[in-house]
Amino acid sequence: MPPCCELVADERGGVAGAIGETRSVGKVEMRRTSPRPQKNLHYLIMSGRIVCKFGGSSVADANQFRKIKSILEGNSERRIVVVSAPGKRNVQESKLTDLLYSTYDFAKNGLDFAEPWKLIRSRYIEIANELSLRSNIHEELDKLEELLLEKTQELTVDFVVSRGEYLCAKIMSEFLGARFVDAFPLIQFDSQYKVTAESLQNIADALSDSKSLFVVPGFYGSDMRGNLKTFTRGGSDITGGILANACDALAYENWTDVSGLLMADPRIVKGARSINYVSYREIRELAYSGASVLHDESIAPCRAKNISINIRNTNEPGNQGTIIGPTPLHTSRPITGIAGRKDFSMLYIEKSMMNKERGFGRKVLTILEEHAVSYELSPCGIDSMNVVVDSKSLAKVEEEVRAEIEQKMQPNKIKIFNDVALIATVGHGMVNQIGTAARLFNALANEKINVRIIDQGSSEINIIVGVNEVDFERAIKAIYEEFVEKVVNLE
Ligand code: ASP
Repeated sequence: MPPCCELVADERGGVAGAIGETRSVGKVEMRRTSPRPQKNLHYLIMSGRIVCKFGGSSVADANQFRKIKSILEGNSERRIVVVSAPGKRNVQESKLTDLLYSTYDFAKNGLDFAEPWKLIRSRYIEIANELSLRSNIHEELDKLEELLLEKTQELTVDFVVSRGEYLCAKIMSEFLGARFVDAFPLIQFDSQYKVTAESLQNIADALSDSKSLFVVPGFYGSDMRGNLKTFTRGGSDITGGILANACDALAYENWTDVSGLLMADPRIVKGARSINYVSYREIRELAYSGASVLHDESIAPCRAKNISINIRNTNEPGNQGTIIGPTPLHTSRPITGIAGRKDFSMLYIEKSMMNKERGFGRKVLTILEEHAVSYELSPCGIDSMNVVVDSKSLAKVEEEVRAEIEQKMQPNKIKIFNDVALIATVGHGMVNQIGTAARLFNALANEKINVRIIDQGSSEINIIVGVNEVDFERAIKAIYEEFVEKVVNLE
């Protein structure tokens, strides 16, 4: 296992170094520690290569390419670059990946694909021209156009949309004077869509020259039969995670158009504070509950090797963004973030002597599973069971589910409540803190918000409450005020 990063928090929830040698990155300092850091022993200055993934908005036009160049020049450890396909330059525009999906659909159905294709072509040519590149981008585009016209076997949807990243990486590598490495032969998945051990070794070998700058297209690889396969949408993040893992990277920087994560949705909490550091576990809880930053499958490869992920803003490179890392960080602030989602329904089932009936819960959950409704939470009483599910998936089968529960479980009562919202308050700072739950419920009570569901796992890093959808925004504001603003005012 490679050495891991240890981060030490300052009292304001910022991250600062303490004893020992540190490499300062603005307010955030990272120190290389042994796999199991011993108390008060600090280790080497970290060094190594950083994998940098640039998302669609970061490669949207020539000017963004120039920003990337200067970001890379700002730190010589940034040696492995992953790019998405160019995204929107303004709200009216489409992402090139979406245009490629349309082009494929038209071509496959024998329809004229000139319109989306013209937009795709002109975007790449414009970028290459503005950067004064003598690249063979015209030839690459011509080749793809021919394939689209011929509709050959090779022409799968995955192949066509992957060209978004491929062409972008081609232009980027020429612009940076870097080595282009295609992801197709390199990233290989097994039948479970897991990257094979052999593939990880191949990646490490292909990118082993620590002096070279590499550019790799994101979003795709190949299956065991040698077919090109794309990841799910937003999957260039996963490519970055895989490369970071394979190369034992020092860090994985994910460059996007926001300066990291905020403690709450800024559309609800105006001026919500930023999160400097969040642990892998906290980010899972926050992402599951609605906060979206990066593709959740990109975390696991980094987590497996304790590689920190740094969310950064290409348009504000001076901002240190948010670090997602292995160790919990204890600050004076008990919580790290608040996230929430609407559109849940709650099934309430009541039956006397339910607790004596073996397998009751399992049978109810099996009925839901058989109707493709997955459950989120299931708080139970002695004679009652609540199951919180996604409203949309329940709506399609509500009558069948109700009828089957009635027939198989013979309950005294079964009710379905819609318009439920779940709010997760997350933070390692809550662990062993007496009174945290009391503060949370007091804050909601003071706002006259009725709490309909309560769930706190034994890990204590997450308290979930269910409220009526109409109270959703007010509840988030109240929790934020209690755990963030009040604490800040006391500092
Ligand atoms: N271009 C792909 C998408 O739009 C993949 C990515 O950007 O990560 O989903």
